[in-house]
Amino acid sequence: MGLANIVAMVATYFVANRYSDQPEIVALIVIIISAIFLVISYSITQGFDKLAQANKMKTEFVSVASHQLRTPLSSMRWALNLLLDEHFQGSEQEKTSYLESVQESAERMIKLVNDLLDVSRIEMGRMIFAPRQTNLYIIAQKIIGSLTPYAKANNVALTLDAPETLPNVFTDPDRILLVVQNLIENAIKYTKGQGEVGVTMANDAKNVKVAIRDNGVGIPTSEQKHIFQKFFRSDNIMKYQTVGTGLGLFIAKSVVEESHGNIWFQSKEGLGSTFYFTLPIYK
Ligand code: ADP
Repeated sequence: MGLANIVAMVATYFVANRYSDQPEIVALIVIIISAIFLVISYSITQGFDKLAQANKMKTEFVSVASHQLRTPLSSMRWALNLLLDEHFQGSEQEKTSYLESVQESAERMIKLVNDLLDVSRIEMGRMIFAPRQTNLYIIAQKIIGSLTPYAKANNVALTLDAPETLPNVFTDPDRILLVVQNLIENAIKYTKGQGEVGVTMANDAKNVKVAIRDNGVGIPTSEQKHIFQKFFRSDNIMKYQTVGTGLGLFIAKSVVEESHGNIWFQSKEGLGSTFYFTLPIYK
């Protein structure tokens, strides 16, 4: 760039000498050369920005993948070492509980790898998406059933308020199930002590609206603008909730938008959060 600048200045000098009697031509040529340089330096800066962003993504990817894989892997190794130890004298019940913890760790790793694959597919514009008529009421019931023990273990009362007559929407049922599940899991996970998580579903003439409300730790106002960015986790939860990747909401937003819906939230630190999404009714 420096060399190009010198060449341009020398060229301008010769042009100015050649057309010294026509200052308007000189001015025009200088303006054109400056404009060309402006465009070149702008694209170079943009290129560097993109490179820096890609580099940051790579660092975040490595950090999340290694941290979030190390914990379940260590816990699997620990449980397997115990079970394989010839001096192990635990009861059948203990053995089952160690095996269950191995199973849980394996599930966690599979979920992480799937999320990372999803993110890269979303970024390449190649998300696997198979939409069809879907009933969110049935999906919510299924999820509430499977998450009730998890909520109880965390001292959280989980409730569903939705009419059986909720109209169908047009989306990928497997994907929207994971979205609702992630929103409810977050609501439980980010609620400390005695908590309440309420899921409500309703519709107007055009849309089905889903709300997942908690009275948990909330999201600091200054960080709210980053919540749907990949790998983002707010400062207030990082201190006590180490399990998480910051990928769930990024994927949720892509799935909802792919289904022509909207997703947003309201939150107050210390008071709780409500995540909403709407999907158009299937007609
Ligand atoms: P993860 O939960 O794995 O960190 P998500 O993408 O699901 O990833 O969420 C991103 C971040 O948004 C969380 O780390 C947390 O900081 C914040 N967040 C999401 N849901 C809630 C909630 N219900 N209450 C408070 N913070 C939340």
